[in-house]
Amino acid sequence: MHHFSYRDGALFAEDVDLRRIADEVGTPVYVYSSATIERHYRLYAEAMQSAAPAGKAHVFYAMKANGNLGVLKTLAALGAGADTVSEGEIRKALAAGFPADKIVFSGVGKSESELRFAVQAGIYQVNIETEGELDLLSTVANQLGKRQEAVFRVNPDIGAGGHAKITTGSSENKFGVSFEEVGRLYGRAANLPGVRMMGLALHIGSQIRETESFEAAYAKMAVLVADLRAEGHRVERLDLGGGLGIPYNIPKAFDHGPDLIEAYAAMVKRVTDGLDVELGFEPGRLIVGNAGILMTRVLHLNPRPTKQFLVVDAAMNDLVRPAMYEAYHEIWPVLEPQAGTPEIAYDVVGPICESGDTFTSGRALPALEPGDLIAFMTAGAYGASMASTYNQRLLVAEVLVKGGDYAVTRPRQSYEDLLGTDRAPPWLA
Ligand SMILES: *Cc1c(COP(=O)(O)O)cnc(C)c1O
Repeated sequence: MHHFSYRDGALFAEDVDLRRIADEVGTPVYVYSSATIERHYRLYAEAMQSAAPAGKAHVFYAMKANGNLGVLKTLAALGAGADTVSEGEIRKALAAGFPADKIVFSGVGKSESELRFAVQAGIYQVNIETEGELDLLSTVANQLGKRQEAVFRVNPDIGAGGHAKITTGSSENKFGVSFEEVGRLYGRAANLPGVRMMGLALHIGSQIRETESFEAAYAKMAVLVADLRAEGHRVERLDLGGGLGIPYNIPKAFDHGPDLIEAYAAMVKRVTDGLDVELGFEPGRLIVGNAGILMTRVLHLNPRPTKQFLVVDAAMNDLVRPAMYEAYHEIWPVLEPQAGTPEIAYDVVGPICESGDTFTSGRALPALEPGDLIAFMTAGAYGASMASTYNQRLLVAEVLVKGGDYAVTRPRQSYEDLLGTDRAPPWLA
């Protein structure tokens, strides 16, 4: 479910008319709904609490899905933790008010300086992905006179997800230490002064809309927990990752409801029952995906003998998912189409000099004119967070709505900011 709906002929975000945001902030612009973020976080957190013994479920929002300060502060205020993948994300999580002891540091390639920053900040947990990282973390923490709590991210050799580029749990993927290696590494870690191994983590992929792949992977982890304990190792935490998917193909009045979340929670409870571990969860897309849209204005029509191109002011640098993952986003006109309006099959494209800058081909939409506003729905996850300045386009603006209020939580980049950081080489200055 989300809080974007038509009222009196126009699309609203909660109680704010999107035309007002377009007028006052310009386009393209991301618009996020606080109510949707809060609803999804609460649904998820409550379901996971019910899957674990009291006080043993911990939710760390995967902030790479959407790192907007307003979104982060909204989630921090609800008591969420943060799953981070870089020093920049740790810094931003702290700035947004996530306490250090609710921050997890994941990621395939953490540098020495990033690990030092994380240990110094006193974060909850480092998810170690390689033997080299184990040694580096221990050395760095020991130099600081600390012992960092950590888990091994295991590759369960079960991958899943909506697209090959977002599958992470197969042994063919670059993520995690292999199942066979964990025991040996646990043994080594016991003799290292700078780490305290607390357990295991996994994350098998993204946009997963069933529970079977999770279940297969988690069942393997449960066996591993028992094996490690039998060898005398401490296993107190099991971080189950994120990856639960959302519906992108949303009929206008459809409430996707809590079904998948509840099925997932029931499965987690079943598979981890009696394990006596703290459970960690790292949802990203599920919390913010349906909570955001990208609003864009039609610039031009480009009719061809076989096609009708609709050129809009957003491009692949603002929303790369269609170009990168062949992702589908519904398109809703901001002015509610009148019954009986003829539909036209449009190729909706951005201004960037690449044919890949195509949001969709042959999509039936009500006839549109230059100046009309449309919204790419379900753009709250991996939208603005993956934006770039390709083609020297300004980083897109972001707005957070709450009830009848809205705030620009990231102003559109200025040309001074875009060009001002460049430096000419001295021999050409
Ligand atoms: C990306 C990522 C997540 C979040 O994935 P979603 O599909 O957005 O839920 C969680 N954990 C790790 C380690 C990740 O890399």
